[in-house]
Amino acid sequence: MNIQSTDSQYIANTYNRFPVTLTKGQGSLVIDEDGKEYIDLASGIAVNSFGIGDEKWKSAVTAQLDRLTHTSNLYYTEPCAALAQMLCEKTGMKKVFFSNSGAEANECAVKAARKYAADKKGSEYHKIITLKNSFHGRTLTTLAATGQEVFHRDFLPLTPGFLYAEPNDANDIKRLLDEHLCAAVMLEVVQGEGGVVPLDAEYLAEVQAIAREKDVLLICDEVQTGNGRSGMLYGYMNYGLTPDIVTTAKGLGGGLPIGATLLGEKVANTFTPGSHGSTFGGNPVCCAGALSILSRIDDELLASVRRKSDYIRSSLEGAEGVCSVTGLGLMLGIKTKRPAGEVIKECLSRGVLVIGAKDKVRLLPALNIPDELIEKAVGILREVCADKADDTKKTEKSENTEDA
Ligand SMILES: *Cc1c(COP(=O)(O)O)cnc(C)c1O
Repeated sequence: MNIQSTDSQYIANTYNRFPVTLTKGQGSLVIDEDGKEYIDLASGIAVNSFGIGDEKWKSAVTAQLDRLTHTSNLYYTEPCAALAQMLCEKTGMKKVFFSNSGAEANECAVKAARKYAADKKGSEYHKIITLKNSFHGRTLTTLAATGQEVFHRDFLPLTPGFLYAEPNDANDIKRLLDEHLCAAVMLEVVQGEGGVVPLDAEYLAEVQAIAREKDVLLICDEVQTGNGRSGMLYGYMNYGLTPDIVTTAKGLGGGLPIGATLLGEKVANTFTPGSHGSTFGGNPVCCAGALSILSRIDDELLASVRRKSDYIRSSLEGAEGVCSVTGLGLMLGIKTKRPAGEVIKECLSRGVLVIGAKDKVRLLPALNIPDELIEKAVGILREVCADKADDTKKTEKSENTEDA
C-alpha cells in the first residue's frame, strides 16, 4: 500500500501533512518508513510529555488495558477517581470533569460558567470574553471562543455570546464588562497557536482582579501550556493566578486522548446530574496513562524543563537569522528572518521535527528530552536559520565527489 496516496484519497482534506510517513519512535527520536531518524521537537503538538514509548507510561497503560478498558460513566473506576484527586491536590481546584480533547474541556468550561452565572445572577449574564489572537478549539462553540476570524470563515453562524478583547489591555476588558452582562473571561496565559505569545504579568493580575470584583469567572485554557510545558505544572502558576476554571488536555494523557476541566470553589457544585456528560470521558486506560504522567511532573522535572528552556533560548537568541524567541518553558516560538515555512521544511529534511505557529517556528519537545538531542537539534536549527544549510550540503557533496 502507498500510505501517502491512500491517505490523500480517503482522509478528509483538512490537514496539510508533511511528506513523511512515521512508523515508530523511542523517546525523542522518530523513524520514518525509509528508516530516516528525526529528533522530535514537536512531541505530537505537546502531547507526548515523556516522549514516545515511555516505559513507565506504557506499563501503566498496558496494566490497565489488561484489567479494564472501558465502563462508561455509569460505574465507578479507580484511575478516574485517583486522577481527579491528584489534579485537585496539585492545583487546589475542587472537582474535575473528564472529556477527550481540549475543545471538549473548553466546551465544559463555557457550560459551567454559563450555568454558574444563570444560577447566581440570571441567564442574561451569559457572555464570555476571550482575547483576540486566541485559540480554543474547533467545535462551533470553541471556534466562537477563538478570537481569530480566519478560523470562523465558512462556518457561520457560530455559538453566539462571545466578545473579543485586545490582549494586554485591561481597559478593554473593563469596557466590555461595563457594556455587557458577562459570565466569564477565558484566556491562554501564553497564546500558543497565536504565535507563542505570553501575556503580560501585570495584565493578567489586573484581569483577575477585575473579574473577581464583578463576580465574573476567570477561565485559564491550559490545553497547551499545562502539565509542565511552561516550566510550572500549569501556566497560570507562573503568574500567581487563582483561576476559577482550568481546562487542559494535550500533554495530560502522554499520548492518549483526555481532556479535563478543573472546577474551583465557586463552580464546584454548579453541575448536577444530567448537566453534562461524555461516553468516553474518564476512560480508565487514558486516566491510568495520565496518572503516570502527572505523578512525575514534580519540582525536579519542572526545574529541568526551565533549565532546558534557558539553554534553547540562550543558544537561539541573537543567533544569525533569529529575530526573537518567545514563550515559556518548553513552549517556544522563534521568529526567523527566513519564512518559518522554509525553516520548518529544511529542518525536516535535516532530521529535526519542528512545527509552525502563525509566522513563527514552534518548539514543543518532550519534557524529558535528553540534553544531547537538544544540543544537536538546536545546532541544526541555528544553521537552518542562518541559511547555512545549503553550504553544508555543498561541502558534503564535494567531499563525496573527492571520495569517488
Ligand atoms: C490545541 C488547543 C485546543 C484544542 O484542543 P483539541 O484537543 O485539539 O480539541 C484548545 N486550546 C488550546 C490553547 C490549544 O492549544
